[in-house]
Amino acid sequence: MRDTLVLNASFEPLSTVTLNRAVVLVLQDKAVVEQSHPELRVRAAAVDLPMPRVIRLCRYVRVPFRRHAPWSRRGVLVRDQHRCAYCGKRATTVDHVVPRAQGGRDTWLNTVASCAEDNHRKADRTPDEAGMPLLREPFVPSPADAMLLALGVGGREALPEWLGSTA
Ligand SMILES: [Zn+2]
Repeated sequence: MRDTLVLNASFEPLSTVTLNRAVVLVLQDKAVVEQSHPELRVRAAAVDLPMPRVIRLCRYVRVPFRRHAPWSRRGVLVRDQHRCAYCGKRATTVDHVVPRAQGGRDTWLNTVASCAEDNHRKADRTPDEAGMPLLREPFVPSPADAMLLALGVGGREALPEWLGSTA
């Protein structure tokens, strides 16, 4: 799949995103198409627009981190959009997937946002041991993720269903 270059409102290149994500940003009026593939169009459901090669954000965003983001509790909550990895409700705490008591570390891949109740219930157990499967896998946020979070357009799962077919 072709990636689309994203420019900040100041024309500074920020990162690349998937075509689907670029289309969503344009449809949500968060970005405008600066350059498109001359012959290609995106057609899905009610959408028909030139396939973007470069888009530019309509407003300037300050990206919280650009490259390898250092792990932080706050970063985990932002990455998971303050949603509990176990029940989907509002999360205020960070849970270690493999608990620290079992050698689990403070890393992006071993930590998820969790509501206080689930964090307490899971205690010093893995999701398997506790019978509490993760609703989504933790990931190391990329510069593109950081930009999308700064734009408030959600994590990797938040693509509209009708775009799934063009993926
Ligand atoms: Zn929960």
